[in-house]
This record gives sequence, C-alpha cells and structure tokens, in this order.
Amino acid sequence: MRTFEKTKYFIIDMDGTFYLGDNMIPGSDEFIKRVKETGRDFCFFTNNSSNSVRLCCDRLKKIGFPVPDEKVVLSSDVAVDYINRNYCGKKVYLLGNKNLYDCFINGGINLCDEDPDVVVLGFDTDLTYERINKACNYIARGAVYIATHPDVNCPTKDGFMPDTGAMIELFAASTGKRPIIVGKPMLHTVEYIAKLLDCNADELAFVGDRLETDIRIGFDNGIPTALVLSGVTDEKMLEQSHIKPTVTAKDLCSLSQYL
Ligand SMILES: [Mg+2]
Repeated sequence: MRTFEKTKYFIIDMDGTFYLGDNMIPGSDEFIKRVKETGRDFCFFTNNSSNSVRLCCDRLKKIGFPVPDEKVVLSSDVAVDYINRNYCGKKVYLLGNKNLYDCFINGGINLCDEDPDVVVLGFDTDLTYERINKACNYIARGAVYIATHPDVNCPTKDGFMPDTGAMIELFAASTGKRPIIVGKPMLHTVEYIAKLLDCNADELAFVGDRLETDIRIGFDNGIPTALVLSGVTDEKMLEQSHIKPTVTAKDLCSLSQYL
C-alpha cells in the first residue's frame, strides 16, 4: 500500500518545516498545491504555546501564504480541550504569556492566582521567579500538573531559546513531579485533531522536522509521518534515533513525489 493512500489531512509543523525565520522554505507552497491536487487537505500544528493563531496567520501572510484561522492549531488549543474534558470548571494556575492567557480565557478556563486545582506550564516568555516558586509549591502540594509541549529548545534567528521542556526539568528537580504533556507527540493531540477535522486518526499524516515530537506522534500511534531535513534534524541524527519516520525528504517540496 502506498504510504499516504489513506491520508486525508497532512498535519504540518511550521518552524523548520514550512518556513525558516522570516522566509518560506522554497517549494513549501508547491507541496500544498500537490496536497490539494490529490484531493487532500492540510492544517498547520505548532507546539509553540507562546504563539497565537493570529500571530501564526500574520506570519504566514507575511511570507506570502495567507490561510484562514482554522488552518492553524496550537498545543494551547489541545491544553484547553484537555482541561475542559477532564478538569472542567477547576481552578487553573497558568504559566504562559498573553497569547496563551487569551487562548485559555477564550476557551472558558477558570484561571486563578492562588490555590489552584491544576497548574499549566506553557511556553512562558514572561516567566518570573515568583511564578516559578508559586507553581512548584502548588505542584508539590498535589495540584494536577499539565505542560503544553515537551520541546526543550525553540529555534530562533540567532540560535535558540530554552523552551517548556527545559522548564519541565527545572520543575522536576524542585518537585520530583513530571507533567501530563498534551502537545505533540502525545495521543491527546491526535485525538483533538481527528475530532476537529472530523476524520479517523489513521486518515492523518504528520509532517515535521523534529523526531521527538513531529515524528514520534505518528511513530507511537501507528500514523504515517514524513520527516523533512530542512530544520533541526540532519541525516546523522536520524540514523542514531530509534524514532523513524515513514518517509524522509529534503524538504516539503521534495515530499510532493510521495503524493
Ligand atoms: Mg519545527
């Protein structure tokens, strides 16, 4: 059977996959064209919970690929859905920037500043020592602990920024506890996207540049994946990893040949 024979939707990572910095990776739009020509569709999914749908759409527009809001999904959306399904109405202490706050407020989450039932660790680019201290104490005392995604570093123009995965290690050292993670590579994300797009999980295919998240989500859950070597992963890293994609391509443009 051909790799993507069952695929209805390609779930495409953004940074290092569709664009790099402020530029579209050449031919990314050709891939989308091919996706459409073959009667399929796509949506973008990013683990970066410091972003917002608006910000991602603006960025895509700026690089010459405008899409409607519903084509962009974030780990923040999965976190909101997970809390509403499992901890509906509970008091949530959120570590996140304004974009994540807005997403939680729009999602009807009951945010609080003291004595939470749930602590959520997002990619908080405004994080202060005071808030780390409070969150660690709440977690140690038994609050449910959720993180939006496990990425250790976030690539930037000049190198990288420590991301939520790095904070998870800090929190683990302090509290001895590890979070429920909801973004890629976790099953919650597969379930959320399948429900959102009204399809079965095996009708999705994940495309991205990071083995531990973009590829592992498919590898762990029996869903086809495509690794692109246009971002953080090179051939040597692929060789050394036990996480293997279904197919590997130089970039999105050359992935078109598998469709
Ligand atoms: Mg990426």
